[in-house]
Amino acid sequence: TDKKKLSLTSKVLLGMSLGIVAGFIFRTLLAEVAFVQEYLVNGLLQVGGEIFIASLKMLVVPLIFVSLVCGTSSLKDLSTLGRLGGKTLAFYLVTTAIAISLALLMGNLFKPGDGVDLTTATSFAAKEAPSLGDVIIGMFPTNPINSMAQGNTLQIIVFAVLFGIAISLAGKPGERIAALFGDFNEVIMKLVTLLMNVAPYGVFCLMAQLFTSLGLDAIVNLMEYFLVLAGTLLLHGLVTYSIMFRALTGLNPLTFLKKMEDAVMFAFSTASSNATIPVTMETATRRMGVDNRIAAFTVPLGATINMDGTAIMQGVATAFIAQAFNIDLSFNDYLMVIMTATLASVGTAGVPGVGLIMLAMVLSQVGLPVEGIALIIGVDRLLDMIRTAVNITGDSVVTCIVGKSEGAMDVARFNNPDAGKSEE
Ligand code: ASP
Repeated sequence: TDKKKLSLTSKVLLGMSLGIVAGFIFRTLLAEVAFVQEYLVNGLLQVGGEIFIASLKMLVVPLIFVSLVCGTSSLKDLSTLGRLGGKTLAFYLVTTAIAISLALLMGNLFKPGDGVDLTTATSFAAKEAPSLGDVIIGMFPTNPINSMAQGNTLQIIVFAVLFGIAISLAGKPGERIAALFGDFNEVIMKLVTLLMNVAPYGVFCLMAQLFTSLGLDAIVNLMEYFLVLAGTLLLHGLVTYSIMFRALTGLNPLTFLKKMEDAVMFAFSTASSNATIPVTMETATRRMGVDNRIAAFTVPLGATINMDGTAIMQGVATAFIAQAFNIDLSFNDYLMVIMTATLASVGTAGVPGVGLIMLAMVLSQVGLPVEGIALIIGVDRLLDMIRTAVNITGDSVVTCIVGKSEGAMDVARFNNPDAGKSEE
């Protein structure tokens, strides 16, 4: 292979940086040149960006289903499955609770909401939080084809796990089906690799379009909120995870963070954990060496129920809104916030902006004015991108921890810096 060729990672990074620069240039040109807006920004860039997101989303349902059927059908016994599920859920809940506690702490230490001008607030309607019972009932599909058609990740997971178990119990026919799914899995991973090659262009389009229209004045006005939140996200993403990773796997957290680069860039530019699933899976298996039977379960599950970055946003935002409206929260209120935010993140899919809808549930739970969301909505997009990167990093940390503890992680592969770097 040609050593001088840029790696895919560098190309995506280049596409991202050029996109941001291009966005700023279009932004300053827009006032004078109407066709830039019409044909370039709303035309070409939008088409390119949307096709890129669509192609990622297109992979998600077949990928989750096929890889999870493969993973479960190769499990030796059902108790393994129960232990795996229990461990994964426990880690996801604990990391989310740590994330939001850290956020509440930072929000009260730096008090970004003190002295905020409330005149901008308009109305914002809250949605009811679903009850835990409804969330659990909702995980069971009545029609698996319908679950796939709607992209309902939790339902697809339940069906795939049951289907995989049946394969492992079905003797000869089960073996034939398992072999077939094994082949399907190879082909779909190939498709992921193929589509990743157009990512630099897709990322360029997304970034250029976004930065043309991003409301930067809003960020200036809410600088303190923005900085406290972004700082907490970085702290959690770099420090908390490194400590956890080191303590629970014994492996080098810097290697881990370095290998997250592709997935982090995809999460950042799409602001969707869900659309990033193919890349997170590829990272966990090919680059980190976690066995597919673990990652096929933990990654899609994490993309749906584990959102540490989102929980951090909710913690900081809750503190911010309480301060802005001069409302004191009691210790009990804080516990309530931790619980609601942790539960609210279960069952809400990882798509752009969903964190704010969940925030409405958290606020109404402790009697804070939901209109407070109107204060921060203007700066949310960029923060959404950062917290999505944290969300999928959290999924990957837990994937490695569970993989390592199950003896299902190839440590030599993890330690090899070049392992799984996209070919072609
Ligand atoms: N966009 C985030 C994600 O996909 C969810 C959120 O809005 O916080 O993970």
